[in-house]
Amino acid sequence: MPEHIAIYPGSFDPPTLGHLDLIQRAAKLFHKVIVAVAHNDQKNALFSFEERAEMLKELVADIPNAEVDHFQGLTVDFARKHHAVAILRGLRAVSDFEYEFSLSVNNRKLHEELDTVCLMSSEPYLFLSSRMVKEIASYGGKISHFVTPAVERRIREKFAKNC
Ligand code: ADP
Repeated sequence: MPEHIAIYPGSFDPPTLGHLDLIQRAAKLFHKVIVAVAHNDQKNALFSFEERAEMLKELVADIPNAEVDHFQGLTVDFARKHHAVAILRGLRAVSDFEYEFSLSVNNRKLHEELDTVCLMSSEPYLFLSSRMVKEIASYGGKISHFVTPAVERRIREKFAKNC
């Protein structure tokens, strides 16, 4: 039987414990999970895609069947290249649904064989987003509940430099 590979595309600017939770759970469902950092719109990103990929590599170091890559362009092309059977996405509160739904329908039009699998956010991470972490950190607030200590250190360094 061929390996069932899922790709998990996203901005991960920065990676949070919500992302990690999703990867850990998906790693139990698929033979391999490829976390794919998108570097399409770097203009507004706090971290470069190289930095985001580095943080993700540290994050998944203990998950043997998870790996990190990056891509530019269409997610479906990256998925095809890796013979993925699914795109993995996360659903938090209802607000994610419409966006993820339209994304999955459009991706299906581009690549019929590729399904989108959405995992519901675990309860502690329901309202956690990278954007919120950056906003709290920019005002010097506590973010240790939302990211790993290594990611927190990098965020603090960024904001110290930007000040
Ligand atoms: P994007 O910019 O592509 O939305 P993100 O890095 O913000 O990239 O998120 C990647 C995926 O992870 C999205 O499907 C998003 O809904 C999901 N996700 C982000 N944060 C969480 C969370 N706290 N719980 C569950 N899923 C999440």
